[in-house]
Amino acid sequence: MSGPEPVRIVIVGAGVSGSGVAAGLVRAGAAGGFSATVDLVDPRPSLGAGLTYAPGGDPRHRVNVPSVRMAAVTGRTGEEGAEEDFHRWCLERGVLEADPAGWSEGLHYPARSEFGRYLDERLRSLFAAPGPVRVTHRRDRAVAAHRRGAGHGKGFVVEMAGGDVAEADALVLCTGNPPPELPGVLAALRGHPRVVADPWAPGALDGVARDDRVLIVGTGLTMGDVVSTLLGRGHRGPLTALSRHGLVPRPRPSGQAASWADFTADPPTRISDLLRRARAAVAAAHRAGRPWTDVLESLRLQNGALWSALPPDERRRFQRHLRVWWDAHRFQAAPQVARLVEAAQADGRLAVLAGRLVAACAEEGASGGLWVVHRPRGGDDLVGRGYDALVNCTGAGHGAAFGRNAVLAGLAAQGLIRPDRLGLGIEVDGRGRALDAAGRPVPGLFVVGPPTRGSLGEVVGASEIIPHALGVADALTADALPAAALTGGGRPAATAIPRRTAPTSPARSGSR
Ligand SMILES: Cc1cc2nc3c(=O)[nH]c(=O)nc-3n(C[C@H](O)[C@H](O)[C@H](O)COP(=O)(O)OP(=O)(O)OC[C@H]3O[C@@H](n4cnc5c(N)ncnc54)[C@H](O)[C@@H]3O)c2cc1C
Repeated sequence: MSGPEPVRIVIVGAGVSGSGVAAGLVRAGAAGGFSATVDLVDPRPSLGAGLTYAPGGDPRHRVNVPSVRMAAVTGRTGEEGAEEDFHRWCLERGVLEADPAGWSEGLHYPARSEFGRYLDERLRSLFAAPGPVRVTHRRDRAVAAHRRGAGHGKGFVVEMAGGDVAEADALVLCTGNPPPELPGVLAALRGHPRVVADPWAPGALDGVARDDRVLIVGTGLTMGDVVSTLLGRGHRGPLTALSRHGLVPRPRPSGQAASWADFTADPPTRISDLLRRARAAVAAAHRAGRPWTDVLESLRLQNGALWSALPPDERRRFQRHLRVWWDAHRFQAAPQVARLVEAAQADGRLAVLAGRLVAACAEEGASGGLWVVHRPRGGDDLVGRGYDALVNCTGAGHGAAFGRNAVLAGLAAQGLIRPDRLGLGIEVDGRGRALDAAGRPVPGLFVVGPPTRGSLGEVVGASEIIPHALGVADALTADALPAAALTGGGRPAATAIPRRTAPTSPARSGSR
């Protein structure tokens, strides 16, 4: 006697987010929950690596969390086998011996591409194991998606660039971090051969010559990557990094941060109250002999609950005034990168400036260079300088995701998804379901990962994405799918995506 038809699920994007959902579904199937066929659509060859941990990346681009603390995509933190899984893999594969520069204070910060290799290997063996959930990696790009038939609840049709079409009962969008957008003031330089608009593209810096005067716009972690690549290959020309506040990422401390403050019992509804309470907690931590990073860890773990308590205007206020400070403290640099940036500043190879870009143009004549004007922070004077190359390190261009990704553009045009109110990505409800143009959840349409940060708070580092992805896998098995697919394990209760709260012991998962 044949069983119920397996549910058909299409996941667009096979980075940490998409692969995390697929891994959660495989585990739910193994637990006796349901059966499904899962198409994991991504033109990239690796599973899990996505843009961030892609093979062939510069080995100087390191994970900013030591190997012992990187989250495992195949299991929940705290589950048997999940703890220190990446570190064990590194030991087995000789990654640590082969990369002595990765050590700092007894901890190892491997190349990001090694984490990608680890994810690919683990996920392939998880997906190859027999079970009621079958995952297929489709090496293709989804270019369009629409609902099958009229009305909600009839599933989706997904079209691929290669001409294939996949039918799905549920569709999960895991399209990740869109490349940075060139700031408006640099618009005249779009397409200029000396402007690197997307520093994440393979070989993006190949056109930068050793003696070039380079302007790096943005001073966050991507600036650290760019400086590491350029100096690592012997760059001799002056490097200038410019951002509004000139804040560079804090170095990752070697000690494991331990959350100890609880902001969620009575979550503030104003950003000024949250700031006041965070400052008081840092002062109290200091008196108790604990580092400020313990308070940051509390905020990181509780950010989903804190974000959902803030009304839209307060979220906007956070974006406008606090985001830059939060990012510089929260997204810490691997010690090797932090030391290099510090040393380069000390010996004059790198100048980090605080100021606002005012104008830019291509220089006339044979030089082929660029002329860029900025206003130093707190001053009225304008400073104009010539550069030979400009690298745009302004962070993921979430605002442009709808325009650049055909599948998102098409879904938005049909009113099946809409931008969140801050323009950071795709609006979702507390369970990760996309909201349509009228603000109603679309049955069977989910979004996971960085595009949800405007709605859910920070879903950016692997350690936040994985619980989110597993939560959506639970939601998919709970109520987004036809009851016929359940094979006897019972329908799991519908749950909101788990909100992280202060753990009683130090969190073991890493964070970007
Ligand atoms: C440069 C950089 C460095 C980072 N370093 C760290 C770190 O050290 N530690 C950490 O915890 N976090 C880090 N992060 C944070 C990062 O956001 C997450 O860790 C995570 O990798 C994001 O995974 P993702 O799957 O959501 O997105 P991505 O890795 O961007 O993957 C999205 C995937 O979707 C695919 N895709 C998009 N559109 C389509 C389509 N239409 N059809 C098919 N496929 C599609 C893409 O090809 C891509 O493979 C870093 C982020 C960046 C940008």
